[in-house]
Amino acid sequence: MKAVVEKDKHYEVKIIDMSEEGKGIGKVEDFTLFVEGGLLGDLVEVCITEIKKNFGLAKVISCIEPSPFRQEAGCQHHKLCGGCQLQEMNYEAQLKWKQKRVIGCLERIGKLENVQVEPVIGMDKQEGYRNKAQYPIRKIGGKVVMGFFSEKSHQIVPIDACMLQPSHHASIIKEVKEFLQNYEISIFNQKLRKGLVRHLVIKSGNEDKEIMVILVINGKSLPHSNELVKALRQIPGVKSIILSHSYEKRHVTLGEQCTVLYGEDKLMDHIGDLKFKISPLAFFQVNPEQTEKLYQEVLHQAQLTGNEIVWDAYCGIGSISLFLAQKAKKVYGVEIIPEAIEDAKENAKLNNIQNAEFYVGKAEEVIPKCYEEGIKADVIVVDPPRKGCDEKLLATIKQMAASKVIYVSCNPATLARDLHYLVAEGGYQIEKVQPVDMFGMTTHVETVVLLCREKVDG
Ligand code: SAH
Repeated sequence: MKAVVEKDKHYEVKIIDMSEEGKGIGKVEDFTLFVEGGLLGDLVEVCITEIKKNFGLAKVISCIEPSPFRQEAGCQHHKLCGGCQLQEMNYEAQLKWKQKRVIGCLERIGKLENVQVEPVIGMDKQEGYRNKAQYPIRKIGGKVVMGFFSEKSHQIVPIDACMLQPSHHASIIKEVKEFLQNYEISIFNQKLRKGLVRHLVIKSGNEDKEIMVILVINGKSLPHSNELVKALRQIPGVKSIILSHSYEKRHVTLGEQCTVLYGEDKLMDHIGDLKFKISPLAFFQVNPEQTEKLYQEVLHQAQLTGNEIVWDAYCGIGSISLFLAQKAKKVYGVEIIPEAIEDAKENAKLNNIQNAEFYVGKAEEVIPKCYEEGIKADVIVVDPPRKGCDEKLLATIKQMAASKVIYVSCNPATLARDLHYLVAEGGYQIEKVQPVDMFGMTTHVETVVLLCREKVDG
């Protein structure tokens, strides 16, 4: 595509879509521009900042006609932090845009035409909805700074409160910062790979009544840790304070080893009637209110009668497995993190569920092996990380010819790629596509897809 625009020149552009990074997308003739500061529906004057082979980058110079979807951003940090790309779009428009994004991926990447995508199930509460955050810690000009990494970099944007987090985060950040500053605790320096304190992670469960504070350190112990414990224990809800030891060179959030400084070694939470104990290292969904709706949707799509054998691939601490086990004959779960599987087993006991069995390992290795050994599922639930399912797993699903596959996805692009395979090669039909908003104010979209196939004998 030949660029019809010139660098540093100004153009009038209508913003017709948003990118995943939250940039406005517009066109000059047929040439696509990604516009910094542009919102879906805006008519803006832009300046071209860079021209690439197939698209250009631009920034807004002035707004000629603001979008009808615009709203005042609720957070002062949002422009720098980059965590909430859609804060300036009203919530109803966010949900419509997310639905369109799923449709777009299914058509473009999945080559799936005319698939009906249901309206996104929205959130009642759009602030303070997260139950987890990680704040990198640095020393800048002799001062301890905590915040978030700015978009696609390891530069810290200092933050003292985040509108997506519950209010206790601000008090915890303040106490930890004061402790580090007052006791002159050394802070990890990414370039020199030296220094002690790397990250603060805060997790909460049971409607914020249970809070776990984790300090990630590059070392064995934290000097004056009893003072930190004393300060944090004053904050209502703090039930555990943990050191996570991370000696990795590369940037990782949590180390493999943990030491309990105070209180419980696991976090308690619940979804519906099920109780969960969660290890610091295990993944757990970040939006509890929507997780219940998400799991109800999975349960609804599964239509279990009590006779089914179910696989829950990428099962984490077994939350979907245990949800389904109540209505199925038997549920098998598989997950790569051993601590999460230990939690899954403990959680089965805690909830008095006897028909769930869990394996540690890669879904793409464990499920094919179990299939060879005779475990054949009627329903397969997959809930992979952003990169989607491994091809070996998809091939086994095809071979197993389970009558239902329920695909829970946090990335519509890899979802579309995998659906293409299951439909074109696997003999499945898409019966329902239901997005659920787990991450309001951001461009992230969660989707639950029901795929069915005719039962093949044998
Ligand atoms: N279904 C769970 C977790 C989903 S997140 C829930 O609702 O809470 C995805 C999970 O997949 C994470 O727990 C991650 O540790 C795990 N995982 C990543 N790659 C994997 C693989 N190849 N095989 C099995 N599990 C994997």
